[in-house]
Amino acid sequence: MRPSGRVTAWMGRAGTAEGYDAVRIAAHGLGHSLGLPDAKPGPCSSLMSGSAGGVNCTDPYPDASERSRVEADYGAGPTGGRPSDGQLLVDRA
Ligand SMILES: [Zn+2]
Repeated sequence: MRPSGRVTAWMGRAGTAEGYDAVRIAAHGLGHSLGLPDAKPGPCSSLMSGSAGGVNCTDPYPDASERSRVEADYGAGPTGGRPSDGQLLVDRA
């Protein structure tokens, strides 16, 4: 579900101090801002499994299910168009 209103993400250092990957943490936070919930416990291949993937998990990409959820919420874009290059179009009115 698309979140309504403004989304604020605070990037602390606790996760990286514990050894978690900064890019994965940022991508996970972006996933939340796009309306994806946590998926814990979950495998490293799931971006929204977050810390459940362990400190050795550095995969910053959403899995197919996560991509589908975001595309269902945002993929039509503000004009109903879709990018032809296969990239995800994200709009925010
Ligand atoms: Zn989370």
